[in-house]
Amino acid sequence: MNAAVEPKPAVTGHPIRLQGLKRHFGELQVLKGIDLEIQAGEFVALVGRSGCGKSTLLRLLAGLDAPSDGEILLNSQPLTTLREDVRLMFQDDRLLPWKSVIENVGLGLKGDWKPRAQQVLAEVGLAEKADAWPAQLSGGQRQRVALARALIHQPRLLLLDEPLGALDALTRLEMQQLIERLWQRHGFTVVLVTHDVAEAVQLGDRVIVLEEGQVGLDQAIPLKRPREPSSPAVATLSGQV
Ligand code: ADP
Ligand code: MG
Repeated sequence: MNAAVEPKPAVTGHPIRLQGLKRHFGELQVLKGIDLEIQAGEFVALVGRSGCGKSTLLRLLAGLDAPSDGEILLNSQPLTTLREDVRLMFQDDRLLPWKSVIENVGLGLKGDWKPRAQQVLAEVGLAEKADAWPAQLSGGQRQRVALARALIHQPRLLLLDEPLGALDALTRLEMQQLIERLWQRHGFTVVLVTHDVAEAVQLGDRVIVLEEGQVGLDQAIPLKRPREPSSPAVATLSGQV
């Protein structure tokens, strides 16, 4: 009955559990106790008003910041530091202008990283731009480089902080499709922050609204696309029918 679903690689993503997660900056209580469970390989879209703490939450998930209270468990292990398999991508691509595209992708890597960098550039459709400079690329292409730079580390958790916010509508659509394809191919867990509710509903398996430092709404999006047979959501669903 899953005949229409092409075989996909297994889910590689980390499951995440947030327990009583709080973050305040002085008097300002930004995250007020978040309890959340995210399944391995799930695509979660996180929306909320500007200033409600979305980026703060992603920075905690990335290990760039520490909670004031509570805990993050990544694959059942407390998250206490930066990890190579957790990657954060921003709206602004943060490419180094004095390095070529491929050098940006291989940033900080040692050994024979070039073939792998070439491979991830091909995956995001930029094989021919390896030797270009960031300044020679369009905004969408630069975001593709930023994605390639995440992919080369084989992330199990990909955190996207409004990565498409600055792009025009058509480029945005192409990037949405690319992100979805990469997610389906690699099976990592995604937490995408967006202020665009339509984008959240389109891409997410699940939409979470952050409201006044807490989870306001947590809505599963019914199956709209082929899912990985190994995904827990599909397993649950096929158990019911
Ligand atoms: P969002 O990404 O949802 O727009 P942020 O997580 O960036 O919101 O910020 C949430 C609130 O926390 C804002 O009021 C912001 O000014 C404040 N904030 C974020 N980081 C810091 C910081 N390092 N020091 C002080 N205040 C901060
Ligand atoms: Mg933000």
